[in-house]
Amino acid sequence: MQKKIQMMVGPTAIPHRVLKAMSRESISHRSKEYSIIQERVTNNLKKVFGTKQEVLLLTSSGTGAMESVIQNCFSPDDEIVVPIIGNFSEQFALMGEIYGLKVNRVEFELGETADVNRVMKEVTIATKGVFVVHNESSTGVYNDLEAFGNAIKDTNALLITDSVSGLGGLEMRMDEWHVDVALTSSQKALMTPAGLAFVALSEKAWSRVEESKFPKHYFDYKKASKFNEINQTLTTPAVYTVFAVDEALNMIFEEGLDNLYSRHRTNTELIIKGVKEVGLKLFAKDEKFASPTLTAVYAPGKSKYIVSQLAKKNIIVNGGLAPLTEDVFRVGTMGYVSENDVIAFLYALKQVVKNIE
Ligand SMILES: *Cc1c(COP(=O)(O)O)cnc(C)c1O
Repeated sequence: MQKKIQMMVGPTAIPHRVLKAMSRESISHRSKEYSIIQERVTNNLKKVFGTKQEVLLLTSSGTGAMESVIQNCFSPDDEIVVPIIGNFSEQFALMGEIYGLKVNRVEFELGETADVNRVMKEVTIATKGVFVVHNESSTGVYNDLEAFGNAIKDTNALLITDSVSGLGGLEMRMDEWHVDVALTSSQKALMTPAGLAFVALSEKAWSRVEESKFPKHYFDYKKASKFNEINQTLTTPAVYTVFAVDEALNMIFEEGLDNLYSRHRTNTELIIKGVKEVGLKLFAKDEKFASPTLTAVYAPGKSKYIVSQLAKKNIIVNGGLAPLTEDVFRVGTMGYVSENDVIAFLYALKQVVKNIE
């Protein structure tokens, strides 16, 4: 019996060291012992975000952090522009509408990256925010945040990015790229169990927090920031996920960010090459924008079968998300995935595809 190889797109594989870090006695989230850990976690996260700003720690999944940005940085009737390149960008647009924002969707064909010029044509003096998914987990395509940042920095709009499936595997330089709000959660490239979300804001974004008229309490950034000053949180955080992410960040800095990003890229290049060799196609239209944290493989009508056959060989990958459930499967390289895992996946894929024909 072969060892299980987990190449999921979230929740992802958890390294043994991270699992072990959670196997300890409970401590109070108001203790000095806890605060020391939170301080280390948020300081390390700043380096991964590429920011000098504070990183707020919220107990929620990624979606909660997305919702919190709307509550804290906007007011009813604010206009936002959302490039739609797949399922997760659409979720952000929908959430905006639920809160009563005026959402201007700029639709792209699935598999495309968002074209900055087309999006910027929609940005006017009234635009309060542009919501750009960093890495679209449904299509395996990333967006060029640096280009968006340069285009948006001198406008009235905030550049908001959901980097839930990016941060920790796909490079983020929040300050340098003029990203105003970046958010992520623990269970994807950060190779930690679910439970925590992290968000950082530029000075421009903090000034909008002052103007925001939405009611809020649990996700109130001003309250979160006050507690963050003493390395605590407003309410009880997911303490065990804090233990876990602390160890995951130790692993990330032992490897080094440059090595981490190049491992993700190299593994993805191997997958793209291997997928083509077995006669399948990449779903991303432009290989240059193929995500380094997950590969969406185009297998029309066959994706569910391939996922189930791979699972029989102990290789765990994910199916497609609507409307691509039958046509795409997704292979994660984010977090704790090695070149050996990739080689095992490609070997198994070859056998599975051979049996289809
Ligand atoms: C997984 C994911 C989310 C949602 O995260 P949850 O933690 O499940 O709420 C949001 N955006 C992207 C891009 C994701 O990959």
